[in-house]
Amino acid sequence: MEKIEELKRIIDEAERICVFTGAGISVPSGIPDFRSADGLYNQDSGYNVRPEEIISHSFFLRHTDMFFDFYKSKMVYPGAEPNVAHKYFAELERAGKHVSVVTQNIDGLHSAAGSSEVYEIHGSVLRNNCTRCGKFYDASYVMNPDNCDGNIPLCSCGGIIKPDVVLYEEPLDDSVVSGAVSAIASADTMIIIGTSLVVYPAASYVRYFRGRNLVIINLEPTQMDSIANLAIYEDIASVVSKLK
Ligand code: ZN
Repeated sequence: MEKIEELKRIIDEAERICVFTGAGISVPSGIPDFRSADGLYNQDSGYNVRPEEIISHSFFLRHTDMFFDFYKSKMVYPGAEPNVAHKYFAELERAGKHVSVVTQNIDGLHSAAGSSEVYEIHGSVLRNNCTRCGKFYDASYVMNPDNCDGNIPLCSCGGIIKPDVVLYEEPLDDSVVSGAVSAIASADTMIIIGTSLVVYPAASYVRYFRGRNLVIINLEPTQMDSIANLAIYEDIASVVSKLK
């Protein structure tokens, strides 16, 4: 309980908070970390593919149908709603604090909760564009089998629709990255939630933080705990419920 009190004090005193989130914050919304998902076993070819390989740019080009097979079953959760943790940080903002969110998640739940300054460094499943003409499509269009050839969503022009999700082998969006970096650099408090900080580039972002208090909330210890002012090893939904 002492750690919760300490966290409460840090948040009360903070003026500019940057929340950095990973898969852990969306687990209470029913979204598992796709990196822990099983790969895709293809019966025809008889080989097993790791998730990291499936969600790569070259795999998308070579095996578009298998990509969407995995993508639709493991990465898109149309019914998912923001949970108490997403809502808590949106409420803090409404209460008058400056709160920015930098997230590795692609579920769009921080914006759905009402946070206004969100940097989705790995993109979002909610945005999709035709690879030929650029036309925008939402997630429900992409998920609707009527709009697909097999599993592959097609534009009205016949082009393949690609999710605005950063795949392995693809660069991050420069403007999102620079927004995220300046949000981190200008914060007096950084709260890192639900990420083991081993996935690039999460760990490298922390070094831009120059503020007073660095807090890490994760189920398991991370390699950054030694530089944190406070580390809490607990589910974020449970931490937030105690803060209220
Ligand atoms: Zn098109």
